[in-house]
Amino acid sequence: MSNRPLSDYPQSVQDAVAATRFRVCDLHAELPRWELVVWTAGNVSERVIVNEDGTPGTNDLIVIKPSGVSYDELTPEAMVVCDIKGELVDGDRAPSSDTAAHAYVYENMDHIGGVVHTHSSYATAWAACGEEIPCGLTMMADEFGGPVPVGPFAIIGDDSIGRGIVETLRDSRSPAVLMQNHGPFTVGKDGRSAVKAAVMVEEVAKAMRLARQLGDTLPIPQESIDQLNKRYQNVYGQ
Ligand SMILES: [Zn+2]
Repeated sequence: MSNRPLSDYPQSVQDAVAATRFRVCDLHAELPRWELVVWTAGNVSERVIVNEDGTPGTNDLIVIKPSGVSYDELTPEAMVVCDIKGELVDGDRAPSSDTAAHAYVYENMDHIGGVVHTHSSYATAWAACGEEIPCGLTMMADEFGGPVPVGPFAIIGDDSIGRGIVETLRDSRSPAVLMQNHGPFTVGKDGRSAVKAAVMVEEVAKAMRLARQLGDTLPIPQESIDQLNKRYQNVYGQ
């Protein structure tokens, strides 16, 4: 597949890519900071809209972490640019091995502008059990609008991880999915909100695990979950 080089894109798109490389590089620093990753695992990506009218489309670009580079060595220039199929457009290194999963999400969920993947310990523990995190905390109702769902078992190599993420999140208010036997993928309107969801899913996974050690957790009535989520998503913080 021959890709249009970045230098063939309009200057405004090249400028947007340059700014996104800085942002995505900075966001990667949040993953070790919140202790969500070890070694070179984990990745953040962000969509760069190419359409002049600002609407997302299948001609969009993705900025993502290069494969196998340690967090200390990440720079804006080291970030890799791919098309929406995950094919390399610009960069000195190979894109993250999770690029196909990120790309599938962008291609199939127009409103998503950022994707994050980690193997953070507590969230990954729930994934290993194939168990959704029950909505037993008001902060879960706020952030996730219900339980954090489990996605199917899928292995790297085709679009089955991406498909599993999209099919699970489509029917859920949650910006996080626990891919079974693997770990969390989170999404958001931009990279920053996807990183926030990655931090929050680890936090609630830990709190609910601790709660389970104390005894049975108490469910929150659906009506209250709906009310809390609506208030938080629409009113809080504005
Ligand atoms: Zn992984």
